[in-house]
Amino acid sequence: MFSSVNPYTQKKIKTYRADSQTVIERKLKQADRAFADWSALSLAERTGYLRKVGEYLTANKQRYGELMTAEMGKTLKEAIAEVEKCAATCTFYADHAEVFLADQIIETEAAKSFITYQPLGPVLAIMPWNFPFWQVMRFAIPGLIAGNVGLLKHAPNVFGCALAIEEAFQSCGVPTGVFQSLLIGVPPVEGLLNDKRVKAVTLTGSGRAGASVASIAGSQIKKSVLELGGSDALIVLADADLEKAAEVAVKSRMQNAGQSCIAAKRFIVEKSVKKQFTERVLDQINQIKQGDPMNDATTMGPMARLDLADAIERQCRESVAKGAKLLTGGQRDGCNVAPMLLDKVKPGMAAFDEETFGPLAVIIEAKDETDATRLANQSDFGLGSALWTQDVAKADRLARQIQAGSVFINGLMRSDARVPFGGIKTSGFGRELSEVGIKEFVNVKTVWVE
Ligand code: NAP
Repeated sequence: MFSSVNPYTQKKIKTYRADSQTVIERKLKQADRAFADWSALSLAERTGYLRKVGEYLTANKQRYGELMTAEMGKTLKEAIAEVEKCAATCTFYADHAEVFLADQIIETEAAKSFITYQPLGPVLAIMPWNFPFWQVMRFAIPGLIAGNVGLLKHAPNVFGCALAIEEAFQSCGVPTGVFQSLLIGVPPVEGLLNDKRVKAVTLTGSGRAGASVASIAGSQIKKSVLELGGSDALIVLADADLEKAAEVAVKSRMQNAGQSCIAAKRFIVEKSVKKQFTERVLDQINQIKQGDPMNDATTMGPMARLDLADAIERQCRESVAKGAKLLTGGQRDGCNVAPMLLDKVKPGMAAFDEETFGPLAVIIEAKDETDATRLANQSDFGLGSALWTQDVAKADRLARQIQAGSVFINGLMRSDARVPFGGIKTSGFGRELSEVGIKEFVNVKTVWVE
């Protein structure tokens, strides 16, 4: 049995019976059968379905938004924006898939040689609760358009969202078995990965989960894509627009109550502007309005679970014990944690070394740009960094030195369907979104005609 609990009210929303082995087997059979028909459709037929899914999501964004807010506490505004982003991504891939997946002629001495992209089969998607629609859809939209079918193992606190996504596909006439939610915990995952019908796996989540899943998939010689954690730097150099940098830094860190893999988790600031930047950050943090996430005026909801609030409290406490200074925040009421700002953070402290998954902003002082880059790279993670400077040539040079899957200059680090998304180091491997993402779960087949 699994239960979803509203993190703001702490009231139980719903209980779900776990899928039995018989149900899992039925869903696997259905996925396997559905793949044969789905992959035989033309690309235009598949994109047609996904276009409809986009329209359906838009038409139901209020309902889906409310469900997300109830299950994991993000503000309703953020939740509705998440559904809209999924809908826009349906349209993006529907518009571009034909070009992305077109055969590619290669000039050789052969009469004809070309690359063709073919789907792999059922793909298992293991997803977290923090962006319960977006994480799923950014795999499912390109994955399904390419001709694969999806089996979702979502986080149990958002099983309502998992079923709602399945319902969205069904309501648009997507054939049975093309997208199914499995209501399971971790134990059945190994059996699924070992099953010959499952051809590949994508996981968004922690490094611990990623390491386990990728090693089982590896033992079966199955493709995996891992989108894991981050502890990314937001570097502020002396010539940055400090007002704008502080505003975006706080948004990046505090949106979704700080529970985002690509949040700016370490603000690394040149010494000469540290005082002015810190004042502006404090000012932005003081404007955050906590409260009922269903309420329009609320800008930060609760954290999704009590254990997550415990974890961020511990990381703050341990960092303070090692010399960091808490400038604001930290008061706690259940899952509601007042947004925190820690100054004097250094390597060796939890707030520097570990991923912090909650409303905790930290200031790290750098001597100069070289020191800032060194500190940014002094991390096991490498997902999405940000850099603030008005010197475009310098930004271009430093962006190449920063060890991360993306670097956003003078803007909010975010995922966007048009550009690849993913990490290096312990942030994972493989990419989602864009042309690169749709090609992760295809057989890149060479055809050579003498
Ligand atoms: P998590 O514990 O790894 O859970 C994520 C998903 O993996 C859940 O469905 C979970 O199932 C499942 N899982 C956990 N251990 C597993 C195992 N050994 N084998 C198979 N599946 C397993 O992650 P979380 O702490 O809830 O989520 C936050 C983490 O996700 C953070 O580290 C965050 O940075 C990362 N994240 C990364 C991205 C990205 O795009 N790179 C995006 C969002 C979040 P159960 O819930 O049933 O345990």
